[in-house]
Amino acid sequence: MKIESDYQKVWASCLEIIKDNLGKENENQFKTWFEPIVPVELRDSILTIQVPSQFFYEWLETNFMELLKRTIREILGPQGMLKYSILVDTSIVGKPVTVRIPSTGGGQNTQNAPRDVPFPTGVGSSRVPINPFALPGIKKVKVYSQLRDTYSLDNFVEGECNRLARSAGFAVAERPGTTAYNPLLLHGGVGLGKTHLANAIGLKTKEFHPEKTVLYVTSEQFMQQYAEAGRNNTINDFVHYYEMIDVLIVDDIQFWAHKAAKTQEAFFHIFNHLHQRNNQIIITSDKSPSELVGLEPRLISRLKWGLSADLQAPDVETRIAILKQKLHNDGIEMPYDVIEYIAYSINTNVRELEGALVSLMAQSSLNRKQITLDLAKQMIDKFVKNSERDITIDYIQKIVCDYFSLPVDSIQSRTRKREIVQARQLAMYFAKKLTKSSLATIGMQCGNKDHATVLHACKTVANLAETDKTFRYYVEEIEKRFKD
Ligand code: ADP
Ligand code: MG
Repeated sequence: MKIESDYQKVWASCLEIIKDNLGKENENQFKTWFEPIVPVELRDSILTIQVPSQFFYEWLETNFMELLKRTIREILGPQGMLKYSILVDTSIVGKPVTVRIPSTGGGQNTQNAPRDVPFPTGVGSSRVPINPFALPGIKKVKVYSQLRDTYSLDNFVEGECNRLARSAGFAVAERPGTTAYNPLLLHGGVGLGKTHLANAIGLKTKEFHPEKTVLYVTSEQFMQQYAEAGRNNTINDFVHYYEMIDVLIVDDIQFWAHKAAKTQEAFFHIFNHLHQRNNQIIITSDKSPSELVGLEPRLISRLKWGLSADLQAPDVETRIAILKQKLHNDGIEMPYDVIEYIAYSINTNVRELEGALVSLMAQSSLNRKQITLDLAKQMIDKFVKNSERDITIDYIQKIVCDYFSLPVDSIQSRTRKREIVQARQLAMYFAKKLTKSSLATIGMQCGNKDHATVLHACKTVANLAETDKTFRYYVEEIEKRFKD
């Protein structure tokens, strides 16, 4: 049996095993996913490790669960457990800790869904991350802004399509909270640069005003944090935390439409508080305020207080300029006729434009072919045909329920009827497969389940599809419907 005195030593031994298992060829994976982990405690054969974010944790669960399980058992013996402490994305640290209980059977055991065990009280030694909410009297905690360096204003190519939004953004960065552009609402279709620009304004603000607290959150994160605060009885702390931000950026607010009524209400109060104190609010949405149905009317009326600036699809000159910039940043050269061809063929949005460029470069390097106009033509034709609309979780639920002739809202119900449980699991499985949503979001939208349930559902479906013919047929038939 191992001595439980030194969590650091234990983790160091784990790392050795993990590194060894991953091998030289996966050194990057080791660097990315294991080096940032900080061991925080060892108690009763439970090793607590701190990971930087929910996403990070999910990634470990999805990709390295078996390895971690084996390693922990090897070092701590059969009772060994691993507990994650998630330093959540917005510096809201010390969130609930998930305890991963290794299954006792050997090999993969999908029946053993990961279990969430609430953060045991009393474990809050000084090594366990402290919740900044819980520090009385501390006004300024260090807020991790969540801004991405690559989404800068310098990288944001200017064109007719974004001139107003861009210059309003610049003004806001210079004088946050004191221009008429409060809130600044950036709206426009997918892939037109809302996230990039909002992020760029945040970075620019930091440049002009290093002392200001800037925070970028997606509306989805905000909603999850709110739900979690509700579960932990920390709503007040949640609200106070947001109320001390100088420049608050909330991305994709349309996500709250037709749901999240409580979240919207909480945000409404935070909005008022910040606005009264001349703190800046920046919001993005894929719809203009008047088209934003499903949001609280009083919230929509607030959004109209400042400036709403739209981002439009770029014209061909701007598209060429964007392509050139991307190539320049990556240090890649490409014949001008190819650039032009791409710019003329892809006129939907910037994301697809970038996608086409990346595919073309991948094609050429995989097949060791020169990038020529011919290659570009072949690839773009395929690309344009294949570029599909984004599939939403709602749409997936509808397809699955239609297939089994169930009412769509049955997925939200609490019933344990087998057919409904199965439909829900299938919806979760396809949502994981076909969208970029996190496990937590999928769970929330499929009957308010947690991420562990989603993970379990995905495994169950994959397993059944392998072992049960009828079930496999269902999966294939449903999958076909997404392709129509
Ligand atoms: P949205 O949030 O509106 O869906 P994003 O901000 O995610 O769109 O933009 C999609 C991609 O296109 C990103 O990689 C972004 O960097 C790029 N992009 C969008 N607009 C521009 C622009 N004007 N200049 C350079 N890159 C852009
Ligand atoms: Mg976006």
